[in-house]
Formats: sequence, structure tokens, C-alpha cells
Amino acid sequence: MGHSFSSLPAEERPRFLASNMIHECNNPSTGGEDSLFQARIILIRSALQEGRLEEAVPIISKMIEDMDNALLNIALTGESGAGKSTFINAFRGVGHEDEDAASTGVVETTTNITFYEHPELPNVKLWDLPGIGTLHFKPESYLEQVNFSRYDFFIIISSSRFRVNDAKLAQKIREMGKKFYFVRTKVDIDLNNERRSKPRTFKEENVLQMIRNNCLQHLQKIGIEDPKVFLISSFELESYDFPKLQDELAKELPEHKRRVFFLSLPNITEDIIDQKKASIQKRIWLEALMTGTKASVPFVGVIKEDDIAQLKKRLINYQRKFGVDDASLLKISQASNKPMEEVKALIKSPHLLTVTRDESISERLLKYAEVYFSVNGGLVASGFYFRKSYYTHLHFLETVANDAKILLSKLWETSV
Ligand code: GDP
Repeated sequence: MGHSFSSLPAEERPRFLASNMIHECNNPSTGGEDSLFQARIILIRSALQEGRLEEAVPIISKMIEDMDNALLNIALTGESGAGKSTFINAFRGVGHEDEDAASTGVVETTTNITFYEHPELPNVKLWDLPGIGTLHFKPESYLEQVNFSRYDFFIIISSSRFRVNDAKLAQKIREMGKKFYFVRTKVDIDLNNERRSKPRTFKEENVLQMIRNNCLQHLQKIGIEDPKVFLISSFELESYDFPKLQDELAKELPEHKRRVFFLSLPNITEDIIDQKKASIQKRIWLEALMTGTKASVPFVGVIKEDDIAQLKKRLINYQRKFGVDDASLLKISQASNKPMEEVKALIKSPHLLTVTRDESISERLLKYAEVYFSVNGGLVASGFYFRKSYYTHLHFLETVANDAKILLSKLWETSV
């Protein structure tokens, strides 16, 4: 790896690149891939080993395309007042009074089906379906009426008891080969009531267990074998069973959908932030692999104006995904009653592209690549641009994800 790419004769370059790429393939540092992902990596690796770069490119680009175009349609069904729209807004990380809280469109006016688009990911939609048994919906025809094939899974919501109709619907969903999850909302209200009425004997876990048992016994009685219920409060999604629900949902989704699912979650727990980070890392890695297989790849670490603009855009994109962009910081500043400057001083990413007098932005960016590399290891011998930008992206991602965690813990401090 001693010589530089530029000194190699043109015909030698693809092979040289391939050997680099094979190294990357062996170290994807991603994890959690499914068999399709693994199979594709094996194909890419063998194409590169045999110097057939042109065969690797379409596979890599297909993987990126699948990731970027994955659709996720989540159906919520339950009676009016059960808490569907509150859950939808909490899931999308928007407040009830925000402009984004409005639905994107009432699709079928006769059936009153509404969808809400994720503010950052237009490919993710949450569908508010009327409860079964309401108006003209009959259990037998409900799934056809709501166009069931559109949805990746169903969340059946109730703030009290699940009804016979809910059980019938669940059975139908199962027959259609789809997944459903029972979600019992508003447990914060139950807890408050119990706390107030039995202040001396109140124990949160006992009350939760009681609600859970009630729901389970009732669901069994109305015909659901082996039911599972997730207890949540849409005002405190990070508490109770939402993290469990999120794990369960992710487990059932195919790889490309799982990625978009994680990206769509609100930044309310460290686990979600880590999952999001891992999903984006995988995308960065594939992109680097893609760039690296192109023969026109720049060879040394010169960062041009264009690249800087791209990197800035990238940083903003990550900040939005993790809720540390300017608009989100402003909301945090208002909610916590802290001046914006104070909020910004807690975190690092807003300062990543601020340069001092004796350093150019290009030098600064290259330093990030080196910092990331020195902490996380890898091959630095070659001065390939793609690898530098790869490490710079990873450094941005790492910083932004850490910022999200810092804000999470600081927010907790202020709300306790
Ligand atoms: P929808 O008709 O199913 O969309 O129900 P909404 O989302 O409009 O909720 C009905 C009412 O219940 C609203 O006043 C919400 O603020 C309230 N609500 C919904 N979910 C929760 C929750 O988890 N906890 C509490 N305390 N109130 C909730």
C-alpha cells in the first residue's frame, strides 16, 4: 500500500482499488444484517477480488437504492378517542400544536382514512384508520375497505378494553399474513388515578402489571391465543413499553425497512440514537464502497469547495435526523427556558464547521477524518479521498449522535 494511487499506471488502478475495497468489505463495522445483505456483500467481494469492478457497482448501487426507497406504512386502528393521533404525533416527534401535526391528507373521505407523513422521511407514513365496527365498517370487510395490503403492520389501539371486534380484526390480519400489535394507551392516567386514590399502597409496577393482566386475560377470553400487549403513554414514549414495542417491530421488518423504521423514530432513548447511528453508518459505508469502485475517484486528500458544500449539507442532514438542527435546538431552548447559546454550548456539532483564523476549512475537515481514524482504527496508509470523506462523514455522525445523547440527558435533568 506504499505507493500513491496517482503514480500507478491507469490499468493498474482498478486492481489497486479493488484490494482496498475488499478490505472495506471485510470490515463493514455495521452489524445486524440479514441474509440478503450478507449475500450481496459476498458477491461484491468476489467481483472485486477478481478485478471485475463493473460487476460490483450495480450491486452496491442497488443496495443503496433499496435503502433509500424503502417504504414504511404503519396502520393504527382503534376507536375515536383511543389516542391514535396523539400516538402518531409522538411517534413523528411533533407536538400537537406544531404545524406538522396536521395530517397530510384525508385520503378516502367516505371511509375517513387519514395519513400522516413523517416530517423527515416522506417514505414513512402513519395511517389513522377508523375503529372496526364504526360507521359502515364491518369486521368481515374491514381489511378490504382500508386496503390492508398497503400496510407493513397494524397497531390496534385502545385506552380501555379491547373489544371483540379488535380480536376479530387481529385474527383476520393474521390470516392475511400480516403482523398486529395491541397497544394500550394512556397508562399515565391510570397510574395517576391509582396514586391519588391509594397513596399509601401505590406501587407503579403493581398497577402496570394489573393493567397488563387485565388486557391479556380479556384478549384471551375473546379468542386471542398468546396475546401481547404494550402499555404506553404517548406523552412519555420513552417510558413503559414503547421501547419494547419498538424492538419487537424492528425484529419483524426486513433489513431495508428496519433501517427506515429506526430513522423514523423520535430521539427519545440512547438505544434509538444508537440504532439510528448504526443505520446511517451502513449507508455511509456503502457509499464509500461505491465511490471507491469508480475509476475516477480522486486520489489525495484535497477537499474542494464543492466537497465542502456537500459536507455541510451532510452535517445538516444528520443534525435534522437526530434533532440537533437549528429548528430543533430552538424548540429545546424554548421548552427548557435556556437561551439558544447555552443550549448550543452543551454540544459539539454546531461548531464542527466553524474555523479559526489559522486553519482552513479543508484542513479542519481532513483533521476530522484523522481523528475518527485514530480513535476507531482502519487503513490510513492510502490517501484516497473516498476514505477521507468516509471518515469525515463518520466523524460528523458520531458527533451529532453524541450531541443527541447529551441533549437527552440534559433534558431529563431539567424535567425532573
Ligand atoms: P384519536 O381519536 O384516537 O385520534 O384520539 P386522540 O389522539 O385525539 O386522543 C384523545 C384524547 O386523549 C386527547 O385529549 C389526548 O390528549 C388524550 N391522550 C391520548 N393519548 C394519551 C396518553 O397516552 N396519555 C394521556 N394522558 N392522554 C392521552
